[in-house]
Amino acid sequence: AAATPVKMVKAVVIRELGGPEVLKWEDVEIGEPKEGEIRVKNKAIGVNFIDVYYRKGVYKTDLPFTPGREAVGIVTAVGPGLTGRKVGDVVAYAGDPMGSYAEEQILPASVAIPVPSSVDFNVAASIMLKGMTAHMLLRRCFKVEPGHTILIHAAAGGVGSLLCQWANALGATVIGTVSNEEKAVQAKEDGCHHVINYTKEDFVTAVNNITTGKGVHAVYDSVGKDTFQGSLQCLASRGYMVSFGQSSGLPDPITITDLASKSFFLTRPSLMHFTATRDELLESAREVFSLVSSGVLKARINHFYPLSEAARAHADLEARKTSGSVVLVSDS
Ligand code: NDP
Repeated sequence: AAATPVKMVKAVVIRELGGPEVLKWEDVEIGEPKEGEIRVKNKAIGVNFIDVYYRKGVYKTDLPFTPGREAVGIVTAVGPGLTGRKVGDVVAYAGDPMGSYAEEQILPASVAIPVPSSVDFNVAASIMLKGMTAHMLLRRCFKVEPGHTILIHAAAGGVGSLLCQWANALGATVIGTVSNEEKAVQAKEDGCHHVINYTKEDFVTAVNNITTGKGVHAVYDSVGKDTFQGSLQCLASRGYMVSFGQSSGLPDPITITDLASKSFFLTRPSLMHFTATRDELLESAREVFSLVSSGVLKARINHFYPLSEAARAHADLEARKTSGSVVLVSDS
């Protein structure tokens, strides 16, 4: 049954698929949390490329909807009988359900993670989804160890920046790709030992030169269409191809024999499958918060926008104008 409407809040609503202009700032009704739920007033909302995929229809959901899968806020109401949560708690969430581009939202209490007091709202919102993704990629999909050489595409992006910092701390030799000089400087600061501008030089040749023909142990590829085939060519024998996104479009199909040439491993992970249980979710979040607190991971919040201007944030993210994390701020 629908929740009883109690008040109106502002939210970004998508009624038709399309460009950034389909993100509309509207009044929406919000109800009381039901059993097992909490209501959260969002303060800082993380923008992720996945929000673009839903807006364009690359990933499907029913219309109309409010996008967003990451936010930090203050609990304003708890559902009947719920223990362990109270009004005023600061919580973060990243993943399911969608709907964080809103002044307030209702969430299952099971997805909310307490934010340590040492971590501020904006930092937490910039690092939850992206940091847990980095954890999945570096600790679970292909376990990076000292002595490994790895290639990270979009190394100055939100996830990319964290991957570089973390992989460097794990003792890997890190090669990163970026599209301009400013991003190259950032990637170096984040621990990339070698940075390639893949809009100016052929990254396959560059990786081949850097590794003196040996290739890399793993590629972390979120760019997709424009890089996937080249990424395979960068791998050493028995290397791991970790394809985790498609910012430039879906990669062309491959055949099994593309992997057989050098006994490659291929995986296409999604964060939600690695945080599906409360224990796994908490473990990932704890690991990320602990690395933030100890200074191993630094949040790069390079772009703030008011929540009402989410369309501008999407336009900049898609135009490759952003680096690090993009955060929407709500003052309600
Ligand atoms: P980013 O900040 O990394 O933004 C995307 C970056 O990709 C751009 O800044 C740009 O960097 C690069 N890029 C290359 N080609 C294009 C193109 N044609 N259009 C746009 N960007 C391009 O975004 P996020 O940190 O939010 O996400 C990074 C990737 O990780 C995304 O693909 C996302 O879907 C994926 N992801 C996957 C998850 C999973 O569970 N599988 C979870 C979280 C994220 P440059 O200018 O240097 O080329």
